[in-house]
Amino acid sequence: MLSVETAQAIILQHTQPLPAEAAPLTAAILDAVLAEEVISDLDSPPYDKAMMDGYAVRSLDLADGRAILAVIEEITAGQTPTRPVAAGQASRIMTGAPMPEGADAVIQVERTRMLEGDRVEIEHRPPRPGLNILPRGVEIRRGDVVLKPGARLRPQEFGVLATLGRTTVRVVPTPTVNILSTGDELVEPGQNPGAGQIRNSNGPMLTAQVSRAGSVPRYLGIARDDLSSLVPLVTEGLKGDVLILSGGVSAGKLDLVPGVLKNAGVVSHFHKVEMKPGKPVFFGVTAAGQGKAQSTLVFGLPGNPVSALACFELFIRPALRRLRSFPDPGPRMVLAQLAEDFLYRTDRPTYHPAWLEATGEGFWVRVVPWLGSPDLRGLLQANALIVLPPGDFLHKAGQIFSVLEMEG
Ligand code: AMP
Ligand code: MG
Repeated sequence: MLSVETAQAIILQHTQPLPAEAAPLTAAILDAVLAEEVISDLDSPPYDKAMMDGYAVRSLDLADGRAILAVIEEITAGQTPTRPVAAGQASRIMTGAPMPEGADAVIQVERTRMLEGDRVEIEHRPPRPGLNILPRGVEIRRGDVVLKPGARLRPQEFGVLATLGRTTVRVVPTPTVNILSTGDELVEPGQNPGAGQIRNSNGPMLTAQVSRAGSVPRYLGIARDDLSSLVPLVTEGLKGDVLILSGGVSAGKLDLVPGVLKNAGVVSHFHKVEMKPGKPVFFGVTAAGQGKAQSTLVFGLPGNPVSALACFELFIRPALRRLRSFPDPGPRMVLAQLAEDFLYRTDRPTYHPAWLEATGEGFWVRVVPWLGSPDLRGLLQANALIVLPPGDFLHKAGQIFSVLEMEG
């Protein structure tokens, strides 16, 4: 059977970043990867700019550390100066306003005193030219390459793009991910389950995971365990960049998903991974070109909620990161010391719910009580999955384990 690592490598082999698109500068592209070089068409600041509220002066007028100057005008941010400052003169100026000609320093208002007859008295040790002035173009010069392809668009990148007037940029777009729950026993969370029924927890859970992974979830509903229900919903699901199904991939009588996917043109790359929970997980890809430029990645997750959640973290989140062109697909594994002894027996590498904590001496991990793949409640106490090897062991406190951090 395939190891988790081999399965992850196979997924990445079949996953390329989505083709770049132009997109408006809105929160929809927060954290997207830039796909162009951004060159400035202006200087920033566009003029020599006052950085304090105070008086624009000629530094030579303060050679003695003291002067009384005639105030010739007031310049607030958004205005332009109308008069040059000559010897013996000053202009009152506000932060952000352009410097008047002739002046080469700004004295902050706290060092000054207004006198009668539009005069100001200043006491300040002789200022260096340029004091409290941000010169034109020091931040950004026209023609500068300010951002390169591959940059992640964080809030500060948004601000710089706005400064440059870039209301549209080319980015690697956000993947659209269709989510389909399958099972005759499922009802939607708003309904009361009848005999033999349970609520669909995977739909909302996977939707939330997709959102947290910076992608756009589209919930398609519940498909019943029959072809007439599954086939049209799978056809719809294959229109996205990714289709996630939960349930119906094991070896039961009504586990119809792999067959339906095959008939819909999905080429299977694996169907079973050496792991617990999540062994029956399926991965396949459609051929590109069936009315769609890119192929669709298809993940069939086992229906037990913890299996679905763990498979998402191990296989789907890395694929989404690759589609978004992030340099490191993850998942984020850390080495952590076990906090308490733990007796455990398992026949496959097991991703067991755990609590991970960063301390001054590195990471510590504590295993949380858990009843197995259906026990989603056990995950309420967990923020990580600790990887436990097959066998019958008393794991000792202080031993080092690999731990998958579930992203916050
Ligand atoms: P399956 O993979 O279809 O064999 O389902 C395995 C187990 O997971 C069964 O007990 C299902 O009832 C349960 N299950 C399947 N889908 C869901 C779902 N969407 N929400 C909660 N439990 C589910
Ligand atoms: Mg089922």
